Amino acid sequence: MNPTLYDLGWKGMLVAAAAAFVFLHRFTAPYGRHHRPGWGPALPARTGWFVMEAVSPLVFTAAWWEAGRAAPGLLVLWWLHYGYRAFVYPFRMRGGGKPMPWVTAASAVVFNVWNGSINGYAAGASTAEGWLPLGADPRTFAGLALFATGAAVNHWADARLRALRGPGETGYAIPRGGLFRWVGCPNYLGEIVEWLGFALLAGHAAGWAFAAFTFANLAPRARRHNAWYRETFPEYPRARRALIPFLY
Ligand code: NDP
Repeated sequence: MNPTLYDLGWKGMLVAAAAAFVFLHRFTAPYGRHHRPGWGPALPARTGWFVMEAVSPLVFTAAWWEAGRAAPGLLVLWWLHYGYRAFVYPFRMRGGGKPMPWVTAASAVVFNVWNGSINGYAAGASTAEGWLPLGADPRTFAGLALFATGAAVNHWADARLRALRGPGETGYAIPRGGLFRWVGCPNYLGEIVEWLGFALLAGHAAGWAFAAFTFANLAPRARRHNAWYRETFPEYPRARRALIPFLY
């Protein structure tokens, strides 16, 4: 990677985020409860999640290594997130998950190569000498607090959803308690907060572009999930918002 390609990469991601936000309000990505026929061959969700998410930390590591190996703390945070998402989460899914079209998995792989490259490059090429690019700056501490809080919420919500099913079950129930009192998708909220924290402490454009894309990707999906809950369960709490308590 070189600086020109990097610039193109993060700017392109901002454009993609804006396009995704508009597009995904009209069209629902076909996986999980929104999987439907007509999307070609599918693979088991567990395999899909493993393959598409394992790509990200591998590509990040290669780009970081090649760019100069600075700010190793960013590499650690990236691995903390993707190590869980690729190597733990898929193997804990109840019922193995719904089939995932190849096209969904392939587009996630393309995105993860793109995102891992620009973020790994930005981290490795940083001029920082310590573990994190901004050193003891308040943004480092605020970013770490957001990253940790977002990750905790994301893991907690994943576990709460998992507990709604017994072994081998594939149906759905209304999640309740904790943050589910206010929003239908606290897992997505946690994920967004996590990457906002990462962007803040990393201080580079690629981090902000990824945080923007995460919001653009997950906010419309959270809305779709909430609408689906309302259509499916007449007793679903009417006041529960999709993603942001009382607002969205
Ligand atoms: P979902 O909330 O749709 O599903 C998560 C898991 O919980 C699935 O196994 C799902 O089963 C199960 N589940 C969900 N709701 C219920 C319910 N009401 N009753 C029983 N089981 C339920 O999340 P996603 O699959 O979209 O995402 C998984 C993780 O990946 C999330 O933590 C998310 O934040 C992250 N992610 C991040 C993205 C990013 O851009 N950074 C993009 C997409 C996801 P089933 O599959 O059968 O529906």
